[in-house]
Amino acid sequence: MGNVTIDLDKLRERLARKQTIELEDIDLLFGLLDGRILPSAALASVLQERERQDAKWGEQNNDPFTYITVLVEEVGELAQAALHTKFGGPAAAGLRDEAVHTAAVALAIVECLDRGKWRWPE
Ligand SMILES: [Mg+2]
Repeated sequence: MGNVTIDLDKLRERLARKQTIELEDIDLLFGLLDGRILPSAALASVLQERERQDAKWGEQNNDPFTYITVLVEEVGELAQAALHTKFGGPAAAGLRDEAVHTAAVALAIVECLDRGKWRWPE
């Protein structure tokens, strides 16, 4: 999958203004989505984050303990953002991003388990 950035609200607005949808609109949508159906901006953000992670780290086949550590690190960043949102602090601005990171790591764990390539370290 290539990197795809879609402003879903703008796309919905554009389609809503039309009385009919042309075949070329459908081609455009499928081209933009690369064959994926994205029911929400939230899911689009999580998939984009997964693509970013894969581009940065490559395919990861960590054992479950290693992955739990990575997930808890992201949960910690989410907790800090939540605290800063409530009580003030610079991490407040990253609340949604940290939620996306957390969901993307959880998704990466499922993908890793489905590949079945991970092994416990010797
Ligand atoms: Mg993070």
